[in-house]
This record gives sequence, C-alpha cells and structure tokens, in this order.
Amino acid sequence: MHINKHNPDLRFNVAQLLREEIGGRRNYTFSEAALPLDETTVLRDLVGSVRFTRTASGVLADVQAHSKVDTQCIRCLTAVQPPVQIVFRDEFHSVVEVTTGYALPKPDEDDPYFISESHLVDLGGAIREYGLIEMPMRPLCREDCKGLCPNCGADLNEGPCDCVEDTSDNRFDALKKLLDTK
Ligand SMILES: [Zn+2]
Ligand SMILES: [Zn+2]
Repeated sequence: MHINKHNPDLRFNVAQLLREEIGGRRNYTFSEAALPLDETTVLRDLVGSVRFTRTASGVLADVQAHSKVDTQCIRCLTAVQPPVQIVFRDEFHSVVEVTTGYALPKPDEDDPYFISESHLVDLGGAIREYGLIEMPMRPLCREDCKGLCPNCGADLNEGPCDCVEDTSDNRFDALKKLLDTK
C-alpha cells in the first residue's frame, strides 16, 4: 500500500517529457527538511537527484538521495541520527494520455506507481517505501555501546552501577567455597 501524503518539493510536472519520444530525459534535484516514514521514524535533511526517462507507459525514475534518520540506540536508547542512502529505479505510469486526456489501461504490475491526471510525479511515497527498506535494523550510538543495566536501568557507558555484584551466580560461589575449604 502506498502512503499518500503530499510533499510539494518532491512533486515534478512531467507533462512536457510525456510529449517526447521514448528515451527523452529530464534531470532535477530536490531537498526536503523532514519526511516522516511512519509514526515514529522521520528522514531529516533529505537531498537528492532524479532522472526521468520517457517510457512507453510513463516515466522511469532513477533516484539517488541521502538523508539522516531520527532514531535511538537499541542498547542505551540515546537519540542518534545514522545516515541513510536511498537509491532506486522505478516506473511511474500515466493514467491518462497526455495529448488526448483519454484514460489508459492499468499496468500489469503489483502495486504500481502512477503519474497524476495533471501529469505530476510525486516521489514522496516511493522515497518513503524505499527509505523504510534502508532503515538500520540495529542502530547504535557507537559500536561498543555498553547499554543500560537490565537491573537498575543505569547507563553503563557512564560507569558500572551498584548492582553488578548481584549478577554473579550464588550457587557457584557456594560450591567454590566448599571446594576451597578442602
Ligand atoms: Zn548506545
Ligand atoms: Zn544496575
């Protein structure tokens, strides 16, 4: 399912390109301060470029963009902004013929992207979907983050907490004492 939310900076009018022959091209750059991916994830400082190439049924978009994502370290929950690269190629299909305005047949493709009736390509939805694929699964504030103590919740990057002793195995200690006395 495509998410429908409009970002004017990510919409491009391809009416002129649609009047050209197959293979005709246009290049654009874009930027967006914040693009929400879902309720909890936001792409920040999205900057990229797109090349549209006229195809038989619409335009092919080659997108290259970079961004940062607001998220948190999975171990210590500190806010982090890892970089995200979004690179994809996908086709946007015309719903109406550009010169006559006649409705065009639906493309034989699962969940295709469409060019609007006014010949606008909205890259926002595609960037969201490809962006979600690129999300870091296990973001860390640093490679050796020590995380939070599961017992008291202290940030172990700031030093050991008072409950470190409690994690040793008492049964083993008792056995060790028994052996030591022999
Ligand atoms: Zn961390
Ligand atoms: Zn602790």
